[in-house]
Amino acid sequence: MHGKVSIIGAGTAGLVAGRDLASAGISTTIYDQKEELGIPVRASGIISINGLKMSGIAYESAVTNTLRGARIHAGSSIMKISAREPVAKVLDRKRLSDICEYEADHAGAKIVKGRRITGHMIENLHRNSIMIGADGAVSNVAKHFGMGPVERYVLTYKAEFNVDIEDPDSVDLFFDKKAFPGLFAWTCPNAKDLLEVGVGVDSGKANSKKAIERFIAMKEVKEMVGDAKMIDNGASMIPLRMRKRIVDPEKRVLLVGDAAGQVKGTTGGGIVYGSAAAIMAAKAIRDNLSKGKSLSEYERMFVRRYGSDLRLHGYINRFYSSLESRTIGRIIGVMNFLGMDSFVSKYGDMDLPSLLIKRFFLRGLI
Ligand SMILES: Cc1cc2nc3c(=O)[nH]c(=O)nc-3n(C[C@H](O)[C@H](O)[C@H](O)COP(=O)(O)OP(=O)(O)OC[C@H]3O[C@@H](n4cnc5c(N)ncnc54)[C@H](O)[C@@H]3O)c2cc1C
Repeated sequence: MHGKVSIIGAGTAGLVAGRDLASAGISTTIYDQKEELGIPVRASGIISINGLKMSGIAYESAVTNTLRGARIHAGSSIMKISAREPVAKVLDRKRLSDICEYEADHAGAKIVKGRRITGHMIENLHRNSIMIGADGAVSNVAKHFGMGPVERYVLTYKAEFNVDIEDPDSVDLFFDKKAFPGLFAWTCPNAKDLLEVGVGVDSGKANSKKAIERFIAMKEVKEMVGDAKMIDNGASMIPLRMRKRIVDPEKRVLLVGDAAGQVKGTTGGGIVYGSAAAIMAAKAIRDNLSKGKSLSEYERMFVRRYGSDLRLHGYINRFYSSLESRTIGRIIGVMNFLGMDSFVSKYGDMDLPSLLIKRFFLRGLI
């Protein structure tokens, strides 16, 4: 197929878009500032099994653990959500990046590493190609083309500990408005003997390094890590809201992944929505080049499929972020009493919270 696409950023979203475009015979070049993709690893790898299937990534060899549930902590209350079947995999993020790189390369995409693309280079590349901005949370492409701001970011910090984990198929989420404003703190068994500990806090409201120190000092975490030595993974950031514009059909620019803010506001997870968006962006470009359809089809497809769920993730995040941990604790108590923990265990979907609400109204609590 005739046509040329330049993708800025070779994270998961850029590589998935590159894979799909190149396999349709479109001349595709992916640029990344890193000499080696996927490092340093600053993010976790908890991804729903349904989302992984949808991405089309041959992820299996990156799996380090399988998860069935979560324990939600607020004050002294705990709600345990546990599905009968595994719901998510934990992936080694460096390995996932290697797989996505292999798939894009194998499909025929050219991957140029060690090249930071800004200002006039964006202009030069854009002159004779469609451009995809897959350049992460602080996107130069979005800024260059005036695609509007991301309205909320959280700052993160994570670390790992080599310890034997008692219950390696559940994550623990800790809500505390004062200590972790804007998101939460978590522990996740990355493998049976590797515990990840992390925090997300509203940018401007707290310091993520101090927040993780406070978290590691908490009784529950101390009990898990004992005197194991901390492996420091460092800080990063997550965009918690989608940009107002994710495509400019006249300028022939599309944003995918964190660059577009396609992240679940409840948890900060971005791989599933980012990969789905990348697949849709590639389809819109194919249809544009072969049938003359508008590139704005990309936004239409994405919003129709995920718009209401992304908004719902945002509302849920705003709701729990506004509550004191005491109040969340009381809500958990009521939910446990009403049997809603079992309902959520049975019908909850990590990616699509609207399904839970639909099922709630259809079935009640039985
Ligand atoms: C602590 C933490 C935990 C997380 N946990 C999860 C989780 O459990 N599950 C989940 O689904 N998601 C999780 N996420 C979110 C997830 O990591 C991101 O949503 C996802 O990595 C975004 O992929 P991306 O390809 O859009 O962007 P990125 O992975 O950020 O890739 C962007 C790429 O663009 C390159 N780049 C940037 N600027 C330029 C430039 N000017 N020129 C050239 N190259 C450039 C960068 O080098 C980078 O390789 C987490 C994030 C964090 C920070």
